[in-house]
Amino acid sequence: MGVIDDIKERLDIVDVIGAYVPLKKAGRTYKGLCPFHNEKTPSFIVFPDTGTWHCFGACNIGGDVFSFVMRRENMEFGEALRLLAQRAGVTLEPQREGEAAETRQRDRVLKINQLAAEYFHYLLMNAPDAAGPRDYLTRRGINEETRKSHQLGYSRDDWHALGQNLTAKGYTPADLMEAGLVIEKKEGGHYDRFRGRLMFPIRDPRGNTVGFGARALDDSIPKYMNSPQTGVFDKSGVLYGIDKARDAIRDEGYVVIVEGYMDVLMAHQCGRRNVVASMGTALTDKQVRIIKKLAKKLVLALDPDAAGNQATVRGLDVAKEAFDRKPVPVLTARGLVRYEDQLDAEIRVVELPAGQDPDEVLKEDVGKWDALVSGALPVVEYYLRNAVARFDLKSPKGKGAAAREVLPLIQEISSSVERAHYLQQLAHLLRVDERALQQELERKGTRLHPRGGQTEAAAAGSDSAAGRGTTERVGRLSAQPGLTCGLEQYVLLLLLKRPDVLDLMNRALLDLGMEPLGAEDIGDSEKRALFIALVEQIQAGGTVQVETLRRELVPSLLRTLEEAQASLEKVASLSDEWVEIDAVHRALMLREQKLRRRMEELRFLQEDARSQQDGEAAKQWGHMVDDLADQLVRLQRDKAARTSLKGPRAGHTLE
Ligand SMILES: [Zn+2]
Repeated sequence: MGVIDDIKERLDIVDVIGAYVPLKKAGRTYKGLCPFHNEKTPSFIVFPDTGTWHCFGACNIGGDVFSFVMRRENMEFGEALRLLAQRAGVTLEPQREGEAAETRQRDRVLKINQLAAEYFHYLLMNAPDAAGPRDYLTRRGINEETRKSHQLGYSRDDWHALGQNLTAKGYTPADLMEAGLVIEKKEGGHYDRFRGRLMFPIRDPRGNTVGFGARALDDSIPKYMNSPQTGVFDKSGVLYGIDKARDAIRDEGYVVIVEGYMDVLMAHQCGRRNVVASMGTALTDKQVRIIKKLAKKLVLALDPDAAGNQATVRGLDVAKEAFDRKPVPVLTARGLVRYEDQLDAEIRVVELPAGQDPDEVLKEDVGKWDALVSGALPVVEYYLRNAVARFDLKSPKGKGAAAREVLPLIQEISSSVERAHYLQQLAHLLRVDERALQQELERKGTRLHPRGGQTEAAAAGSDSAAGRGTTERVGRLSAQPGLTCGLEQYVLLLLLKRPDVLDLMNRALLDLGMEPLGAEDIGDSEKRALFIALVEQIQAGGTVQVETLRRELVPSLLRTLEEAQASLEKVASLSDEWVEIDAVHRALMLREQKLRRRMEELRFLQEDARSQQDGEAAKQWGHMVDDLADQLVRLQRDKAARTSLKGPRAGHTLE
């Protein structure tokens, strides 16, 4: 038995999930309010028999105990594995070479940071020499409660205060250097990095103190400094306040990003907890990746000076890149359907009143802040205004530059009505013919796809691929329904061999009005984790870097990867066309299995409701079963149509 199964067997999913969500027994299942969306009537259900959960409400997502913890704790698979293994009392096999030592060192640094934060906080709250920083916080309106909840601190104006405090607790100067808290002198010995500063502990989403931000209270030294890059601190990958903001971001469905520590503190103090700071730099890819697990709506509220505007522009670019794109069918002017990759996120920009930082707006009037945030401009509109200010719109050159900047953004809007609206605005602004812009947009449409050529084939529907298929009389693997692992394993190896087929697979599902392949299409926990890692790589760069995967995967996944790779050569001889057609077929099969799993759950719920004489609930579950049955029929028809077009032929067999 694998370690995953072992953990699943030892843990009661109702216990694990019940620690986060109050669950009530309902027949053979447990019900609760979904922790991933706001709801008043419970549609979140745990199935103890199968060890799975599902939200039948707005989320329509589900999975096993691992996917629950990953989602709820915002963890990678490996982290969730460690957490649950510990809970289950299962020892994980020795990890990659040196990893156990790495983990111990990491834990040690986190512990040192925590002790340092406690020491700094104690000084701020109690020490006579911290009167200055206390006054400063009072002037800025930061109250006692906020100082405590965010563990604000003070580093003494002393070369050795912290060093001595921590060495007395048994840590060596080398440990403290590793944590970035002391600096080595050339002539030997060490001194404290942070002296005479107001300290802001910076935490990861799970509340570990990974580093510090520090503000000088004396004008003669640089105003702000941070911990240096350490094993646990990477300035580009942290968001100040995320540990306290996490739940609020998820509940509200959006995050507000500000620049400064004070902005976050004041926002949280005013009960606006979905606010984090980007650490003064433009938003980075790593930061967006933390956020996108929590919400798909981003509001940027950056300082209104010119530098702020440039940072906004850069931050927006990063945010756009980091969010997923999903292919959306769009009707062209000529009445043809074209697929465009559109941003699966909403990004808005708050325009702050000149000369006011977010914390000042908040302190003055929370209502004003709320109004500013709710009136945040869609990113296109922000760019449109920005373009007016930055380019000379009288010159042809300026017009061209503005169009080049704004058109790609207009293209990413999913609503055609909105797109038309902004196109009109741009045309008006540039004083050019709207039709010319429209043509430019359509020309871009076919060019913008990152993986070029095959998009065209996919856009024309699977017919062109099928056409090629008939002439070549390609064969297909014998389908093996019931053999879930076989199919899932095969899809993994397909993606390893031909990452580009993911696009074809998703477009086929899209043609049926269904969502792209996702984690839930894979039933097996390990294969699902590997699938997610593969898809992330493919969507980020179009290729699969096996070496990167090897470095990042936990051992049990590594084995899954190796198994997939071992079968890889078996398909090495197959033609490209064959692989493409087969991949689509496999995607449909995966989806079919997922729908069947879902239907089973629903029938189970329906039965339970009936046995409890709850006719109304039974009827509702029944409607959902019918809906799934409809989808299943569509799927099967499509699958049959594809098969008959191609004419199945034995020949290649994998298993
Ligand atoms: Zn939900």
